[in-house]
Amino acid sequence: MSHAAADRHAWTEPKVEDLGGGVHRIPLPLPLEGLKAVNVYAITDPGGIDLIDAGIALVPARERLTAALRQLGYELGDIRNFFVTHIHIDHYSLAVELRKTFRTVVSLGDEERANLIATREMLNGSKGRFFGLADPYRLGAKELADEFAAQDGRPPAIVDWEDPDHWVTDGTDLDLRTRTLRAVHTPGHTRGHLVYHDAAAKILFAGDHVLPHITPSIGFEAAGSRMALRDYLGSLARTLALPDARLLPAHGPVTGSTHERVNELLAHHDLRLAETHQAVLAGNATPYEVARAIKWTRRHRLFRDLDLFSRVLAVNETAAHLEVLAIRGQLTRETGTDGADVYQAVPLAN
Ligand SMILES: [Zn+2]
Repeated sequence: MSHAAADRHAWTEPKVEDLGGGVHRIPLPLPLEGLKAVNVYAITDPGGIDLIDAGIALVPARERLTAALRQLGYELGDIRNFFVTHIHIDHYSLAVELRKTFRTVVSLGDEERANLIATREMLNGSKGRFFGLADPYRLGAKELADEFAAQDGRPPAIVDWEDPDHWVTDGTDLDLRTRTLRAVHTPGHTRGHLVYHDAAAKILFAGDHVLPHITPSIGFEAAGSRMALRDYLGSLARTLALPDARLLPAHGPVTGSTHERVNELLAHHDLRLAETHQAVLAGNATPYEVARAIKWTRRHRLFRDLDLFSRVLAVNETAAHLEVLAIRGQLTRETGTDGADVYQAVPLAN
């Protein structure tokens, strides 16, 4: 591994990072391809701990959390609250599991209700099982759906998708012992994503809304929405309207400025929108066609060279960009004879 690559993964090492003011970053292991760890943040005081996010409900994550808390002088039973940023398995599931033993209070954004309902429907078979690819036909991606169906679709952990104790609404102030966190609704990565802002300490617990190394996936959720990218761009603007703060992300190292990274993400999506528009001008019409026509990842890889999961994410991302171009009046959308969304460029008036 090169030095740059080693540095890039340094944040995943099983250490506890002291961020000052009783706040500690604890990376927990993940069994996911390309995503080796998730940060949970412990906010400590003499009476106990509140945690931002929880990790995945697997033994290695639970053991790592136990060891990290012990290093800080606490036990799992000292956790009072899990303030979870969003419904994804690597953030929510360990909270639900630990609650069974320790009666810890679990809080989640109230706009995640639809995702919990849809996830349960999916698991009991009353809805299609193409998680994150709700309607492959609409995306023009039947091919991908066939490949997906042939896969062993087991999730990385067995999870009881139970409700949280509290549904947190936008703008709620959470009074902890040492500070007040404001929950800010930032839909996009998921529809109910929350960030937790500590304006006094100038820190932002950003979940997966703003990540320092990667661009968060958009709308990969059980109750997906066509408007995921429009919502996400709105949430980035909302984040810029908050006072700047240190970025405490769920994946990646802590960095000095949230605003700096938000501006990079906005520039990235501007570029992607332009590339997507170009691909439609070149004659690609469905989300699947357009996804195959553009390059992916920082390394500009071809669509066909991506693994299946990444191709699913890529088609979703493409569909989300096409919808934003349609909202902006640069494209039209119609339904093709096979049920697929078909986009066409709107000629520039002159
Ligand atoms: Zn995540």
